[in-house]
Amino acid sequence: MKVIKTIAEARAERGELGTLALVPTMGALHRGHMSLIEIARRSAPRTAVSIFVNPTQFGARDDFGKYPRPLSSDLEKCAAAGVDLVFAPDDAEMYPGEMMETIVDFPSLTTVLEGKHRPGHFRGVCQVVAKLFNILEPDFACFGQKDFQQLRVLQAMVEMLNWNIEILACPTIREPDGLAMSSRNQYLTPPERERAVAISKALFSAQEMVKGGVKQASRLSTAVQHQLLAKHFQIDYIASVDPITLKPVEIMTGPTVIAVAARLGSTRLIDNVVVEPGND
Ligand code: AMP
Repeated sequence: MKVIKTIAEARAERGELGTLALVPTMGALHRGHMSLIEIARRSAPRTAVSIFVNPTQFGARDDFGKYPRPLSSDLEKCAAAGVDLVFAPDDAEMYPGEMMETIVDFPSLTTVLEGKHRPGHFRGVCQVVAKLFNILEPDFACFGQKDFQQLRVLQAMVEMLNWNIEILACPTIREPDGLAMSSRNQYLTPPERERAVAISKALFSAQEMVKGGVKQASRLSTAVQHQLLAKHFQIDYIASVDPITLKPVEIMTGPTVIAVAARLGSTRLIDNVVVEPGND
């Protein structure tokens, strides 16, 4: 496995690799990331992973400074998983000199949900992913459904800017109790970790309500809200949205994403499930 820190080296290596699947990450790799790497390996003969904690997608009050950066154990995990190339640039390599603002934006997708609570977040995501796509020129790129809005925004970016890259949507990997895996879970204190499971429990119970025939999104939101408030979460949003337009859904007639963002102490957690009402 080659570990590369500069854009020039990445370009030189890229020529040798042929058909390539890329897994962009911010490191602190867990089983969620490893499942993306497995999907990448099944999709293309060569796999690259990028590890870069991208400053431009963090807001002033976000956790950029304390975000975990266990690079050597991440590299071990990548090597063991059969990754061919790791691109792990530093901030100065990606953003040299004066930061030149580069904006790709899709306001109808980026100003709602996460975008509303983290202004500018998706501009940073689009900026860094566009740079990674231009540096590594992957044929496939894997993103997790855990961050479903990010996945949708990046699908739109590839489509709108005519990038010849296939975006692979990868299922959310969960802890045995249901908590969606996240590099941020390690911020949770043991009592918070116990309460954190309420998010996935509430989403699964909403899924059951839909299976039972409920089609009114407000009933789902109310049920989820009760369960989270009972565990003293501070709720940023509970939303039922169309998976393509991200517009709110009132009465479900097709696939709908139920998405939650909520805070426990200083840790912000997000999760979602896709529900599909039955025909009757
Ligand atoms: P991050 O390092 O948090 O930027 O995540 C890198 C990629 O891994 C993104 O495409 C995430 O959606 C994906 N990812 C993070 N957590 C999970 C998870 N629990 N299951 C599946 N994919 C995930």
